[in-house]
Amino acid sequence: MTVDWDIIIIGAGFAGLTAGQYAARANLNVVIIEELAAGGQAVLIDNLENYPGMDQPVNGYELSQRMENQAAKFGVKFETATVKSVIKEGNIFKVQTADKTFTSYAVIVASGAKHKKLGAPGEEKYSGRGVSYCATCDGPFFKDRKMLVVGGGDAACDEAMFLAKLSDKVVMVHRRERFRAQKTLAKRVLQNPNIEVRFNTEVKEIKGDDVVKSVVLMNNKDNTTTEEEMNAVFIFIGSSPNTHFLKDIKLDETGYIVTTDKMESNVIGLYAAGDVRATPFRQLTVACGEGAVAAHCASQYIDCLRGDEYI
Ligand code: NAP
Repeated sequence: MTVDWDIIIIGAGFAGLTAGQYAARANLNVVIIEELAAGGQAVLIDNLENYPGMDQPVNGYELSQRMENQAAKFGVKFETATVKSVIKEGNIFKVQTADKTFTSYAVIVASGAKHKKLGAPGEEKYSGRGVSYCATCDGPFFKDRKMLVVGGGDAACDEAMFLAKLSDKVVMVHRRERFRAQKTLAKRVLQNPNIEVRFNTEVKEIKGDDVVKSVVLMNNKDNTTTEEEMNAVFIFIGSSPNTHFLKDIKLDETGYIVTTDKMESNVIGLYAAGDVRATPFRQLTVACGEGAVAAHCASQYIDCLRGDEYI
């Protein structure tokens, strides 16, 4: 059977874009299927300051555009669609979207992760009306207003730093007594005069009329609750992987795809890279590295299928 593509990549975040350009440069016929914009979660980052080679901070959206252009320049094709399922029949993968079936010899899943929800009363109701999961998108609406940031990881710290450029009334709450975030980032937040950090604090409810007006916070040391005026609530409490379209793939206990060090899953010919993969450190640079490894190993696998491997 002939296939449409050598490799189908699912997701155009940094892992997918890097895998795409590496595979295309290895002279493979590659398509990246993405449901939104290229760049994944990086498009939301205002200032990326730890990306190697960038001696000045770079905007995540701009860098994403450049990576997409670079991949396209090497011959990667892009399709905008939502993947519904991935099925392997013999040595052929069938990737199903709403109105089309794509076939290939190998698949690289680089579908990333989506933000987790707090589950507090009022979160759903005020989503888009004061509750947000993206500081760069929604922060400017709350310039000089009182904003709450929830979370204790790198994302919460990064986003709190961004919001602190817009207002001197940023309150940050974390359920534990210290941050999970990288130490430099955590220190910067703690030293920022526009951010008031409260540890051991949980959000119990988000209240308002048409828009957010207040939050109920609980100190989990002494179980006291207080209601406090607030104009916006920014939630950054981690993410969960986008794997709903996969079947029979080995996942770890938190739902991320388990792979070998060649990025290969338990299904031969199906690779995973980036935030969807079980990895100890989720970073754009890590995603790029994993994308490159996945493309290289998928390329070797296709050579084997064709009886063209270099022994
Ligand atoms: P994360 O590292 O998993 O941190 C999530 C934070 O939210 C944790 O502090 C966690 O608390 C808290 N949390 C989780 N569920 C909660 C709940 N129901 N209620 C209240 N708090 C809750 O997630 P992330 O910050 O989104 O980062 C994800 C990955 O991306 C990480 O690997 C990170 O290094 C990377 N990242 C890196 C950068 C950067 O390098 N600049 C920026 C953004 C993200 P506990 O600590 O108690 O578990």
